Amino acid sequence: MAHGASETIDLPAEKRDSAMGGCPVRWRRSTRARRVSLRIDARAGEVVVTLPPRANRRAGVALLTTHAAWVMERLAALSPHVALVPGAEVPLGGVPHVIRWTPGTDGTARLEPGAIVVGGEAEESPRRVAEFLRAEARRRMEVLSAGHAALLGVKPKALRLKDTRSRWGSCAPDGTLAFSWRLVMAPDWVLDYVVAHEVAHLRELNHSSRFWAHVARLTPHRDAAVEWLRLNGPALLRVG
Ligand SMILES: [Zn+2]
Repeated sequence: MAHGASETIDLPAEKRDSAMGGCPVRWRRSTRARRVSLRIDARAGEVVVTLPPRANRRAGVALLTTHAAWVMERLAALSPHVALVPGAEVPLGGVPHVIRWTPGTDGTARLEPGAIVVGGEAEESPRRVAEFLRAEARRRMEVLSAGHAALLGVKPKALRLKDTRSRWGSCAPDGTLAFSWRLVMAPDWVLDYVVAHEVAHLRELNHSSRFWAHVARLTPHRDAAVEWLRLNGPALLRVG
């Protein structure tokens, strides 16, 4: 087994689940792991099996088999991969936008109603659209964080864009806020909540009731946004 190797294995069908089939698996060896574990990598669309040093692959297959229904259900729920190519549709602020390629124009991507228009070479489109989305994410996050920070009388040290898989935002002890650029695809009120959450950490670097009181002052969208991200977050990881 190669380190980090991906493959598709067949899980045995279970009585209650007829939709079983090939299961994309990535094997991972970890010296720190104490036991065999499974997790879904939403972005790769596969299940990651982590094996501690002395566990063999059979132990991984056994665990996969035990949890076959759960694994396949989770994988099936993942959205298909969306490449940032002309003709594809990506959400921006929760609104679908089609990527439109206009040959013979300047390559820089720009926004039109319902469309992200990109020129230059067609094969450069994915990179240019990705750059556009990141720039747009930064622009929107800076506006939101400035507003929230002013209300709480704080000032972020810096704002960084990341491509994280498990956290949408973070606040470092030095006051640097970091966000997944992918949030720009979520509805505005979801982005508003995540930014409000991290800005509130500039006052309280914990999740105490005082922290949540600050969040509540900044945004009314906490519960809905958390639920939206739980349901739709994995799909955002499948874009680009
Ligand atoms: Zn937090």
